[in-house]
Amino acid sequence: MFSDNLVSTVSIQEILSKGVEGRSISRAEAYELMRSDEDNIIISAARNIRNNNRLSDIITYSRKVFVDLTNLCRDSCSYCTYKKDPYDKAAKMLMPSQVLALAELGKKFKCTEALLVTGERPEHKYVEARDWLKTLGHTSTIEYIAEISEKVLSKTGLLPHTNAGSLTKKEMSLLKDTNVSLGMMLESSSPRLGLKNMPHHYAPSKNPKTRIRTLEDAGQLKIPFTTGLLLGIGEYAEEIIDSLFVIKEINEKYGHIQEVILQNFMPKAGTEMENANPIGLNYFLKIIAVARIILQDMNIQVPPNLNPGIFGNFLDAGINDWGGISPVTIDYVNPEFPWPTIDTVRTTTRSKGYNLRARLPIYPEFVFNMDSGYVSETIRGYIEPIYDSSGLVREELIN
Ligand code: SF4
Repeated sequence: MFSDNLVSTVSIQEILSKGVEGRSISRAEAYELMRSDEDNIIISAARNIRNNNRLSDIITYSRKVFVDLTNLCRDSCSYCTYKKDPYDKAAKMLMPSQVLALAELGKKFKCTEALLVTGERPEHKYVEARDWLKTLGHTSTIEYIAEISEKVLSKTGLLPHTNAGSLTKKEMSLLKDTNVSLGMMLESSSPRLGLKNMPHHYAPSKNPKTRIRTLEDAGQLKIPFTTGLLLGIGEYAEEIIDSLFVIKEINEKYGHIQEVILQNFMPKAGTEMENANPIGLNYFLKIIAVARIILQDMNIQVPPNLNPGIFGNFLDAGINDWGGISPVTIDYVNPEFPWPTIDTVRTTTRSKGYNLRARLPIYPEFVFNMDSGYVSETIRGYIEPIYDSSGLVREELIN
């Protein structure tokens, strides 16, 4: 729902010319793009911006093993099937031996990333989570992640990337030594989504203020950071633009946002939002294109598994990354949507004129800036032997 007082003073073509020339467009201009029905020229401009950027013919992915450390969570989002209660037979609280077995399997399949995922602070809600952590000698999930990250790194060489939700500065400091990057979706900067009958009403950690604080703190700590938006959960087009500007402005301040994920919500059976409509392909393509025009040369990712058969279209709108793809584990957050094989992703990428390359769970711009404090001394030794002159995974290691 756009504000009525935003009167267009420039044409869509003028706004797009600014974007293609690498100049920033304003928030009001971005609203204009969303309002416009000239989708084809907007998408074409976004593609031009993407193709003029570095690594112009390369689309990346991260070869990962998904470690579902615990799917207990203190929050309840209306669209989530990931969260389980302790009595659910699908509840997980992995022990170090199970994590290491998964990481070893990932190593066998030439993965470079160990994605460690948990729900939000399960120990705040469940005695079972507190008992699990106590058995392991910890009082918080983050303490355990710090321990297990060190083990995964030292025993397998896989590079840990943790997504445990909204973390404090102190918690992220604990992880920086052994995590090559961290992740947390902003999802949306709109507090409206936390109101009664909205998807985040029972999810205090999804309060945008909390999430923005985490993004800012990660910037102060110089942690390469993955974030993004969840699209189609009740936000207005104007709020999508506002969310993109939040991310852009934080990155301008700290320079640590390594990628922006644009994830389309898909309704799931058994959730409160099972009958909600997902966003349509054309609208999604337009959002991606406008994001590219706003974010310019920032990395933009769309996960291919949530869009089976049609994900190649996103390359036309300006993305440059497919995110983590696992040859060994499923996407535990979206188990209904299996990843396409890496060969399928490669073929689709080639059909659009690009080449697929594996990246590390830290992007080249940070790999090349190790001396600027983005990579801990502990991690350096693990990264240095596995990247090439592009900052991507050396091809002989995965072929
Ligand atoms: S915070 Fe994450 S894991 Fe928890 S209910 Fe929400 S989406 Fe699910």
